[in-house]
Amino acid sequence: MARKPKFQRAKGMHDILPEEQKYYQRIYDVVSNIADFYGFGKIDTPVVEEIELFSKGIGLATDIVKKQMYSLRTRGGDLLGLRPEWTAPVVRAYIENGMQNLPQPLKLWYFGPCYRYERPQSGRYRQFWQFGFEVFGEQNSVIDAQIIQIFYNILQDLKLKNLTIEVNSIGDNNCRPYYKKLLTNYFRNRESSLCVSCKKRLKENVLRILDCKEEKCQPIKAEAPQTLDHLCDECHSHFKEVLEFLDEIEIPYSLNPYLVRGLDYYTKTVFEVFAEGNNALAGGGRYDKLVKVLGGKETPACGAAAGIERIISLMKSQEVKFPKEQETQIFLAQLGSLAKRKSLKLLGDFRKAKIMVAESFGRDSLKAQLNRADKIKARYTLILGQKEALENVVIIRDMSNGKQEIVKIDKVIGEMRKKLKK
Ligand code: AMP
Repeated sequence: MARKPKFQRAKGMHDILPEEQKYYQRIYDVVSNIADFYGFGKIDTPVVEEIELFSKGIGLATDIVKKQMYSLRTRGGDLLGLRPEWTAPVVRAYIENGMQNLPQPLKLWYFGPCYRYERPQSGRYRQFWQFGFEVFGEQNSVIDAQIIQIFYNILQDLKLKNLTIEVNSIGDNNCRPYYKKLLTNYFRNRESSLCVSCKKRLKENVLRILDCKEEKCQPIKAEAPQTLDHLCDECHSHFKEVLEFLDEIEIPYSLNPYLVRGLDYYTKTVFEVFAEGNNALAGGGRYDKLVKVLGGKETPACGAAAGIERIISLMKSQEVKFPKEQETQIFLAQLGSLAKRKSLKLLGDFRKAKIMVAESFGRDSLKAQLNRADKIKARYTLILGQKEALENVVIIRDMSNGKQEIVKIDKVIGEMRKKLKK
């Protein structure tokens, strides 16, 4: 058995190896394309923030703040937290950088790692990557629908299948307090039948009982009052409009009256996107109060985030195809020290000409290099030996039939361009 290495990655974290990078790159390309199209500007924020930003922004009674924050004290005594999600940091940056004074709606997107101290399991890591979109300064329901559309389009562009979108409205400060009271009364009368966590939620965050997955709580939840029946007029018509927009753009959605999301800051629309299994790929909604809570002017906002590892896992299980990459069709083989020097220069010239060329400069044996050319299925191998280097020529070998021709070294790029076009 192989010995355990002395150092291992921290629990719940993973390396992104070269063969995995293409997934991140592909997602990045699709997301940034759509972001450009819809006029979102990219933002990066520090990985750490003052911890109070998260406790205020996400909510003291949420699992993320209570149990999942990575916190650290700096040598100067500041208490910082590794970002468990992006919305609160993006709102902080929006306020701090004066973006409230720019023409609204202001649209931002991001792509980067987050940290949550969770029990590692399938689809749940302690370091995971998210991308997300946030729109500030627009209360119209069209934005809620557009955010859902953007996430749906991204996942579709990535060729993922079996997507479903669950939507709900959890009201606002007008109607939610009354609804929460109703829920609290309802669950209090059935407290003895609730699971241990829900007994706590009853005191701290009653809405969260609605997304409890424990078997025991399901029959009680099924009879509970539903938010949609208790929305105020404004929330009701906002939600109706969102659904009309979704119908118009033919987004397949279903209403889920138990969808509340884990964070305190949501108002009105909430949604999650699923494919296969119970792990959501993306989730978000409207958060009209958060900017003010974090010290800005009252500003309506709406946004969502997706989990990149979960998307990658689905891309793998659904065996999605990548757009055809430019294949390396040329291999450059060299023999002798002068040839190696000239090859290094020639490789740089090919790069400038935007023609992919593979090489194996560390190998000296021609046979080993030709084997490598075979392995990568090169159509042509360029051979530069001592004699060719002295005469400033290169041998072009057609790998399909072994035919060889000699061309001047300064003509080889033009010659190869012609051959590759054939
Ligand atoms: P949330 O705001 O918590 O719903 O997170 C948004 C998305 O991030 C989720 O839909 C997941 O795809 C992803 N996500 C959240 N937590 C984790 C985690 N611990 N590991 C991997 N992905 C996660």
